[in-house]
Order: sequence, then structure tokens, then C-alpha cells
Amino acid sequence: MPITLVIHGGAGNITPAMMTKEDEQAYTEGLQAALDAGYAVLESNGSAMDAVVAAIKELENNPLFNAGKGAVFTKKGLNEMDAAVMDGKTLGAGAIAGVRNIKNPIVLAREVMEHSGHVFLSGNGAAEFALTRGVEQAPDDYFFNKLRYDQWVEIRDSDFYQLDHKADNLKGVPNPDHKFGTVGAVACDAEGNLAAGTSTGGMTNKRFGRIGDSPVIGAGTYANNSTCAISCTGHGEPFLRAVVAHDISCLMEYKGLSLQEACDTVIKDKLVKIGGEGGLIAVDNKANGIFCFNSAGMYRGMKSSTGTEGVAYYG
Ligand code: ASP
Repeated sequence: MPITLVIHGGAGNITPAMMTKEDEQAYTEGLQAALDAGYAVLESNGSAMDAVVAAIKELENNPLFNAGKGAVFTKKGLNEMDAAVMDGKTLGAGAIAGVRNIKNPIVLAREVMEHSGHVFLSGNGAAEFALTRGVEQAPDDYFFNKLRYDQWVEIRDSDFYQLDHKADNLKGVPNPDHKFGTVGAVACDAEGNLAAGTSTGGMTNKRFGRIGDSPVIGAGTYANNSTCAISCTGHGEPFLRAVVAHDISCLMEYKGLSLQEACDTVIKDKLVKIGGEGGLIAVDNKANGIFCFNSAGMYRGMKSSTGTEGVAYYG
């Protein structure tokens, strides 16, 4: 069976005009390192879930991306992170929301799936569970990042919130300059098993314990061996309302659409009609990997035993 790993580092208004040569190189290296880490697992007959977690850990440890070390700041100047994993073989899932001081939130999400008896833990309870499982912690200053801090300082005294770049308005209409830095991975292993994972710091200046689509099973993350594995990135509220990831799986399962047709229907039509901007990565049970986005660009990469390999950013 062919193997495939697909990753993303966020979607949005990513154009050549806003990227320097140094930026391009840094993103290329960051994406390639994650691709290599995850693909090495698949190549040595590891599971799709192990590959997804390995790739996402790499992205979480890289401050370029809005997840783990590079997580954005909340209205209160904190880093509150969300993450989820789903196993397409068992339909097991684990998710966490609003956690602080966890070095790799994706690892905690997997612990929730495998050891909590639950699917979704939040805030203090998730932190308490992390301690019982010995999940690696990190102090506040591990998450300090000058760029993210300055982005937050610019808007912290306003009611604006922003998706990792420039301020959106109060109704959540994105500023045209924004980009989204959430990370995700999907994989198909040599046994034809699928897995998906997503990890994010959410939105700069977010308030009131806001949670986006990323950790919500069926919205930002979903995997099912009979259809596909999906990880989304974009403006979380419309993705939640459109239940994007599960909707794509349903279009394949109940209407017989191909992965490409199902993704196009949801990302380029349904989501657009409710003003949702962003994209996703997906893989089906034949190891066909795809990218689909309605934004100007998406940080992304794919490696497959069928010969495809590369990273890209622009549309
Ligand atoms: N979807 C994420 C959220 O709304 C943001 C992102 O993809 O960057 O929290």
C-alpha cells in the first residue's frame, strides 16, 4: 500500500509580496523538517497516528507557527492552546482546549484519546489530567515570542481580535492582511489506516475562553478509514458553523463524491457562502493527498511513496 503524509502551517493572505526570501527559506525549512519527521515514521512502517503526531510536534516546536512555542497571546496576555487528534481506524478521538504551559498540545490530545476515557478536556481539568500522565510542561517564557507579543500589544487595548496577523473587526470579518498559523497533519499508513491532527494558539487577543474549529472533532479535525482524514485552518467560526471536516467525509460516504469533489464543494462553495476563509489538507484511504483552500495561500507540504514531494505557500 502507498503511504502519504500531508501537512499545513496555516492559510490566509500569503502572497509573494508579503514574504521575503528569508521568510520563504525559514518556512521551507520548517515545513520540510515536519514532513521528514512524519514521513520517517510512515517509511519505517509506523502508524498514521504516530506520523501525524511526529510532524505536528516539529511544527509546534517552531516559533514560526501559531501552535505550541509560537502560540499567539490572548486578551490577558496568556498563551492558551487547542489541539485534537483522530484515528480513522477506531474512530477514537482526543481533544483539548484552552490549555497553558503544555509544550506539545498534540501529545496531550493523544493522551486524552488513549487514557482519559473522554474525548474533549478543557482548561484546568485538562492541565490536571496532563499532570497525571506526566505530559511535558513548559514555563511561560518558553512561549514568549517578540513577533506575537508585538502583534498582541498593537491591539490589546481594543476589542479587536486577530487571526495571527492583522486585526479583524468585531464581527469577525478578517482583515485582508491576515494569515492563519495553525498547524496540522494527515496521513495514510502502509496498512491503509488514516489519522488527522490539528494544533493552534487560536486568535491573538481572543477573549472569554474562545475556542475555534481546530480541536472540535468534525469541524477542524476528522478521520475515518472509510473516507478520509482532514485538518483545517482558517477563520474558525465559519469552519465551526459549516462543520467542515465531517461534512467532507459525509459527502464521500453518503453521496459517493471523490475527495477532491467533496473538498471543493465545502471549501469553495459552502464555506464561501458564509464568508469563511481558509483551507485544509486531506488524504483518502487510497493515499491520495490533497490541499484545498479559498485563501490566497496556505503553508503546506506533501510527501508520498507515489513520488510526490514538496512544500509550497502560494495559491
Ligand atoms: N482555525 C484556527 C482558529 O480559528 C485559526 C487558524 O487556523 O489559524 O482558532
